Amino acid sequence: MATELTVSVYRPRAEAGLVPDDLAAAHDEVTAVDRMMSLYRADSELVALNAKAGGGPVAVSAPLFEVLLAAEHYARLSSGAFDVTVQPLVELWGFYRVERAAIPPPARILKAKEQVGFARVALDTKARTATLAAGTRIDLGAIAKGYAVDAALDALRARGVRAALVNLGGNIGVLGRRPDGKPWAVGIQHPRANRLIGRLLFWDGAVATSGDYDRYFEAAGKRYSHVLDPRSGWPADGVYSLTVAAPNATAADALSTAGFVLGEGHGMALLDGCEGVAAVMVSPVDDTAGTYTIRMTARRESEPTRVEIDRDADFAVIEQSARSRASDCLQPTQ
Ligand code: AMP
Ligand code: MG
Repeated sequence: MATELTVSVYRPRAEAGLVPDDLAAAHDEVTAVDRMMSLYRADSELVALNAKAGGGPVAVSAPLFEVLLAAEHYARLSSGAFDVTVQPLVELWGFYRVERAAIPPPARILKAKEQVGFARVALDTKARTATLAAGTRIDLGAIAKGYAVDAALDALRARGVRAALVNLGGNIGVLGRRPDGKPWAVGIQHPRANRLIGRLLFWDGAVATSGDYDRYFEAAGKRYSHVLDPRSGWPADGVYSLTVAAPNATAADALSTAGFVLGEGHGMALLDGCEGVAAVMVSPVDDTAGTYTIRMTARRESEPTRVEIDRDADFAVIEQSARSRASDCLQPTQ
């Protein structure tokens, strides 16, 4: 999945001998997900599925099917802002090799957009098959890393580990409590400088960030980042980063991408309505002046996740006023 994995396992000293196998088990889970869902290896199950688009139903493995079902759920929840059928657009813009990325001709964007939309995928739960319309290609880059983190944590839990942290390219999931009794902490990156602007403190679950600073190119002074808006065919615009805390890493990964595309208004409204979810969005006020707005979901008393922002003249901090509706933003489990 073209990223790095860090696994931290905490065991009582008497169990220290088990840790090497814990790390190997977590690594094996992530490798297995990579083999199924990556587009960066020619032999993955997903590459084979994409190659069969237009050829009728294809039997898929249980993990891949579970992620496809989750992807369908988040596509619906975000009205298509999150959509794993975005692959032809990612390819067209050149984001698989970002050093070659460039603005494509508008006619080709329109053409690629015709192949995008989750309505072009049919999932049959009974038969566990996926049917892709001709020309449809799936990219799980916005959700599979979170799924891999959940799989690694499941493996550690099954081995009796009581506290652990898994970080797969900024998709972070934890198991249990930190042994020192403090909450887990994830730094929130300054969007344009190499420092942190604050941190998110959480007791369990997972955190993911979608940002415009990890994979992007610049043209005529403007930044184009790898998260695309499937509705326009152009890179999502208007948000620097979105950090989401959720009960599991699959949800955190999908929701951070979805909210990033939906932007300040609709994105924060969606996240505000999600039970058990906290979010921090950094967006520009004036890009050249270096002024930003930091939006946070309102804190529910029942949710112990906390956001600490370092007070800074460059930032206006806005806490969403109310959490009006509560929708179920978690993917269905099988
Ligand atoms: P993330 O870093 O989790 O936000 O995922 C971004 C990656 O997901 C991109 O590099 C693409 O491979 C893919 N992607 C881009 N735009 C979308 C989108 N709107 N919905 C789903 N996946 C996307
Ligand atoms: Mg994501």
